[in-house]
Amino acid sequence: MTTSDHEQRVIDENVVPRLQIGGEWRDASSGASFGVEDPATGRVLCRVSDATEEDALAALDAASRAQAAWADHPPRERGEILRRAWQLLIERRDDLALLMTLEMGKPLAESRTEITYGAEFLRWFSEEAVRIDGRWSREPGGSGRLLTMKHPVGPCLLITPWNFPLAMGTRKIGPAIAAGCTMVLKPAQLTPLSMLALARVLEEVGLPAGVLNVIPSTSASRTAGAVMADPRLRKVSFTGSTPVGRTLMAQASQNLLRMSMELGGNAPFVVFEDADLDRAIEGAVIAKMRNIGESCVAANRFLVAEAVAEEFAAGLAAKMGSLRMGRGTEPEADVGPLIDEDQRSKVTELVEDAVGRGGKVLAGGGRREGAGYFFEPTVIGAVPDDSKILSEEVFGPVAPVTAFGTEDEGVARANGTEYGLVAYVFTRDLERALRVVEGLEVGMIGLNRGLVSNPAAPFGGVKQSGFGREGGREGIEEYLSTKYVAVDTGE
Ligand code: NAD
Repeated sequence: MTTSDHEQRVIDENVVPRLQIGGEWRDASSGASFGVEDPATGRVLCRVSDATEEDALAALDAASRAQAAWADHPPRERGEILRRAWQLLIERRDDLALLMTLEMGKPLAESRTEITYGAEFLRWFSEEAVRIDGRWSREPGGSGRLLTMKHPVGPCLLITPWNFPLAMGTRKIGPAIAAGCTMVLKPAQLTPLSMLALARVLEEVGLPAGVLNVIPSTSASRTAGAVMADPRLRKVSFTGSTPVGRTLMAQASQNLLRMSMELGGNAPFVVFEDADLDRAIEGAVIAKMRNIGESCVAANRFLVAEAVAEEFAAGLAAKMGSLRMGRGTEPEADVGPLIDEDQRSKVTELVEDAVGRGGKVLAGGGRREGAGYFFEPTVIGAVPDDSKILSEEVFGPVAPVTAFGTEDEGVARANGTEYGLVAYVFTRDLERALRVVEGLEVGMIGLNRGLVSNPAAPFGGVKQSGFGREGGREGIEEYLSTKYVAVDTGE
């Protein structure tokens, strides 16, 4: 299958495949570029300039030069820019969704949903830009006054993953713009096109030169390393895997950079015997299959009360087994390909390990041969506790189901992971629901629902899933620092 004329036109009209630095689209200083592949066909969609360390530092120069004026820019104007960008993303939703499906693989309907979701961070933070305030209070002793004010943190390095090519960027760019920070953004090498398209939209709606600088690169560690070693940088916001997050934390310690870390997950999906099973199964399909399972909030382990475990697994297998695989551009496709062969090999290995230890395949179970990195929607029942799939992030369309006895055991097993991003809980017992949500060691919980992401809510984790929050009222705080003034009023 080749890229159609329409697909090519959408790429050409929306993407300048170069570096955006200081308001200019430039080639990489080395002249090098890299290919962006369609994971459904393996074909190269276009070539993008490949930033070097020198380019990364040029981007930081631009961000540093723009910082003071941008911090002074009226908050209302910063908000209006975000609002216009939201509007334009929504107007161009169909084209941008196609672009996303081409580079990432997910079905078009899901890409449209991500454009809406990703754009909404810009609208949400357009409204937050004018609500940055401070405090004036009387000192407890009575004599002096305490004044606090908020300032933008300063130039930020933003690093994003490939799985949500737009939204993982807008969750950072929205609050940074609202707060008055300038940025160097390094998108994922596998999916830079959506972020380049967003940079173009922001340029069109009047974002001043140098506020957002975008540097796609195949040498992430060198480009990011050069920027992080420079004392002009103030903050790093990273979304990606936990091991890379740890490396960045170590590097950031040299300049004591502020950090936000949105890392990996291993979400438990806990179903109690009193749950509405139909609702739980529906929620399970959403929590598992959104983004082809390639999501940090994907349900990774299905922990089901013994009394209903078999029924739940059979119901889930029937639903998952009926999903149709296909290139995301095909209207009937429910499930697209995985992002690349590495990801597919990892998923295959986890399934083989679970089955080798005695797990029973109830649906799917293997890769689809031919073009693209397809893997069947899979359900494995009675997964033994020592299976790797229960402790590692799957990042694919595979649902391992395992049974538990008491409520305490269910909660203990849900917490039995180094990660703590999200958990899903299904029960109709109110008291149990409250006990369980209190006991779970996570940053977010879906209670009787399989979807938690919402731009108006604080997204983020605890434990090895990181720290900091994106979205909600909390999201902008990551880009602000507090200054306190002790005031003597002469009393
Ligand atoms: P990754 O950690 O491999 O890469 C993420 C980004 O970091 C990419 O842009 C990559 O180029 C860059 N990078 C890699 N090594 C680097 C280095 N040494 N220095 C600087 N930058 C470096 O992750 P991925 O495979 O792109 O994404 C999948 C991971 O992201 C999963 O673990 C998933 O759970 C996580 N994720 C988390 C969230 C969240 O909000 N918590 C959201 C989406 C994805």
